[in-house]
Amino acid sequence: EVARSTELYQRAEARTAHNYHPLPVVVEHAEGAWMTDVDGKRFLDLLSGYSALNFGHGHPGLLRAAHEQLDRLTLTSRAFVHDRFADFCAELGDLCGKELVLPMNTGAEAVETAIKVSRKWGYEVKGVTPGQAKIIVSSGNFHGRTTTIVSFSDDPDAHNGFGPFTPGFQMVPYGDLEAIEAAIDADTVAVLIEPIQGEGGVVLPPDGFLRGLREVCTRENVLMVADEIQAGLGRTGKTFACDHEGVVPDVYVLGKALGGGIVPVSAIAADRDVLGVLRPGQHGSTFGGNPLACAVGLEVVRMLATGEHQDRAAELGVVLRDRLEALVGHGVLRVRTRGLWAGIDIDPAVGTGREVCEALMARGVLAKDTHGSTIRLAPPLVITAEDLAWGLDQLAEVVRAA
Ligand code: PLP
Repeated sequence: EVARSTELYQRAEARTAHNYHPLPVVVEHAEGAWMTDVDGKRFLDLLSGYSALNFGHGHPGLLRAAHEQLDRLTLTSRAFVHDRFADFCAELGDLCGKELVLPMNTGAEAVETAIKVSRKWGYEVKGVTPGQAKIIVSSGNFHGRTTTIVSFSDDPDAHNGFGPFTPGFQMVPYGDLEAIEAAIDADTVAVLIEPIQGEGGVVLPPDGFLRGLREVCTRENVLMVADEIQAGLGRTGKTFACDHEGVVPDVYVLGKALGGGIVPVSAIAADRDVLGVLRPGQHGSTFGGNPLACAVGLEVVRMLATGEHQDRAAELGVVLRDRLEALVGHGVLRVRTRGLWAGIDIDPAVGTGREVCEALMARGVLAKDTHGSTIRLAPPLVITAEDLAWGLDQLAEVVRAA
């Protein structure tokens, strides 16, 4: 008899585009840090939906907010205002220390929004040459999958075959402040940066880079746009990854955990002198800022406002770092961590990242490889210390077995 998960996996593969290569697990329900598959097998989730599930699966407060809203009002479109919109924008704005918020749905849409706003700010406020606005981006970046965003990706899989590409972007090496300074010209409107590169493999810029970038952007009258979609909202032990250097960007780009793992919610936050450039008809989204999204997003913001989840990520992050550093030289080449987030470069002698993830899966732990030999760990911030230790025991045994 074929296991139900095998059958459902094969049926899914047969009827969907192969733009992903999922692990052969078919999940039926989940709670906290644990998922259960259709055959009743339990798995510890160390990926958290690429950080969209920072608060774990089925967080009671988030579910309550969603259920209450579902029964009352789910969509108005932005043609009308609904009763959760003001609170969501105000409280998210306060969390960011920004005057205005523009809600969208997916991360890529929020990045697109930041690009459009930066260009418009450039033409209307900075006075750059019409049609010539330039945005500086980094090597190894990941900002989403739209045609404009993949235009400035240097990942061949993301980029090749999808042209013609959107002009107006210049790439410099990630974390290279001098290269950014050299690239800035009179038509430069923004530097778009991941304060930590998530898809790149949890890549940290050199110490002091974000502070230096803030200074350069201020001096040169260029917007610092921080894509905190994966790094932000508690993951690194602070509300934003930029907080580690005490830096406030001009534009925050947020997504993933903002929707509590329940609904897609993204947003950009900025002050009036930037976000104020948009006027009616110039940008929008049917679902952006809908009542269900705002109800869940507001609950997420209120949870983050207590600082409790950030502290927990910082505390457990010390355990994560110490345990992973002990594996260096034992099947692991390098580790990079910040808060409850880690990139682990697997020794090729042990196997590929995929093979390690398959071995972990066999032991009841789910993680995902990125870029061949790197494994990213992003456990839910609500994971217990015992479960985290057990998951790391499994990893140690897998990488040491080789
Ligand atoms: N920006 C960053 C830094 C991301 O990590 C991601 C997703 O992984 C995105 C943007 C795109 O978000 P979405 O998949 O919701 O469009």
